Amino acid sequence: MADLGPMLNLYPDSVGGNLAAAADFLELPALRGAFSSVYVLPSLFHSDLDRGFCVVDYGLEETLATDGDLARLRALGLDLKLDIVLNHASVQSPQFQDLLKNGEKSEYRDFFIDWNKFWDGCGEMTAEGYIQPEEKYIKDMFFRKPGLPILMVRFPDGSEKPYWNTFYQKVWEEDGERKYLGQMDLNINSPQVWAFYDETLKRLSKYGAKIIRLDAFAYAPKAPGKRNFLNEPDTWQVLDRVKTLADRYGLTLLPEIHAAYGEGVYKKIAGNGYMTYDFFLPGLLLDAFERKSGVYLKKWADELIRDNIRTVNMLGCHDGIPLLDLKGLLPDGDIEALIATLVARGGFVKDLHGAKNMYYQVNATYLSALGGDEERLCMARAVQIFMPGKPQVWYLDLLNGLNDYEAVRRAGEGGHKEINRTNLTADEAARRLQSPTVQKQLELLRLRNSHPAFSESADIDIEANGSVLRIVRRSGPARAALEADFESGRYAVTAS
Ligand code: BGC
Repeated sequence: MADLGPMLNLYPDSVGGNLAAAADFLELPALRGAFSSVYVLPSLFHSDLDRGFCVVDYGLEETLATDGDLARLRALGLDLKLDIVLNHASVQSPQFQDLLKNGEKSEYRDFFIDWNKFWDGCGEMTAEGYIQPEEKYIKDMFFRKPGLPILMVRFPDGSEKPYWNTFYQKVWEEDGERKYLGQMDLNINSPQVWAFYDETLKRLSKYGAKIIRLDAFAYAPKAPGKRNFLNEPDTWQVLDRVKTLADRYGLTLLPEIHAAYGEGVYKKIAGNGYMTYDFFLPGLLLDAFERKSGVYLKKWADELIRDNIRTVNMLGCHDGIPLLDLKGLLPDGDIEALIATLVARGGFVKDLHGAKNMYYQVNATYLSALGGDEERLCMARAVQIFMPGKPQVWYLDLLNGLNDYEAVRRAGEGGHKEINRTNLTADEAARRLQSPTVQKQLELLRLRNSHPAFSESADIDIEANGSVLRIVRRSGPARAALEADFESGRYAVTAS
């Protein structure tokens, strides 16, 4: 079981341009004792799209990180959380490149999902050379982009082959030649894919990983006539099989999934013995400030405790602030109002090709989502560290990041997430450490990391009265208490 100390979350180049500089940052006296883990996003590996979530191979990206940098993190007593992307790999991966080079003869012929083989017998061949599946087979499928999730790939014999591609692709012409990038879906029916997962988990554990985030895992199991997202029971069987591998290397799995509270997916994940992502806390906290009451926070915390749900929680992260996840927990109208408030404060909403209610997150920094009020940010951090779970801390939230519109503009189309991904120079990060808000957050994190009242076996009592939320943690004689007032925005922490 992974320990529950705070975890800093960043890209390898978020602070100072590479992981060596991030290690320098973590070695600063101001940071000492605040964290027990670091979640480094997957641009740590060779990757080419989606800022890391399109992995070429899991070797370290030399321009950003070395084994020596990882050793420095270990020397600081920090373990790692790293991603394995179960659903896809880059067009540039050695396996896909082999397929492009050797076509039918490639030993990786079935490592990816040949669309036409997948749908064989389930639809009509189109003039463009891909099968259009019959409506009955795809009516329950969830496609993240308009049209079918296909990338047309040119084989060495000049033929065009459609391959399954759920996430991003980029196709362009250069010097009269077609070039592409893409997150190509892996075929989980291929034994080679399982050998690849095994090898990857082993590699990640050697890097120092203790927690493995299973990125976009719910898209991996697919079959004609079934859903292509959280298909049951297949998804649970896949997770089980990954767990058997992970156990060999002492890794704790953290499946990543967005779903409405009302669907109860988090319960199933926890019930199957996994840690879950607490994608409810960020929205519940923002809501509590608007509502001026911690009543829903209490409801959620009580459930976590009662059902012994182990979570990793957060305020901000590299993606947007999840709000539709709250459906079923908060009244619909309140969720809509919250989204409107965050948009009025400068956040961006990107719906999925018009399917508005399926998935949306507001892209904003957490501080901007709080109206830029730093005292509220500290109070939100205080609530987070008192909540059950392992607190994950987005570097930009720790360092008072505000919405970065310039970065969005620079990134161009589809660059909305850059609003909350500003890279800081080492000097700028060090300068921000002087801010009282940052120092208050670090003090809270140090308390969380070292005080016995935050041990795993501690009792947690929560009360929500009027605008005040009180959380008391006790372990033996040790006691820590938080009193947070959502009306005045003031809070107090006491610890024995
Ligand atoms: C990650 C996203 C990424 C997607 C595709 C998500 O779960 O958080 O940032 O775009 O997976 O890998």
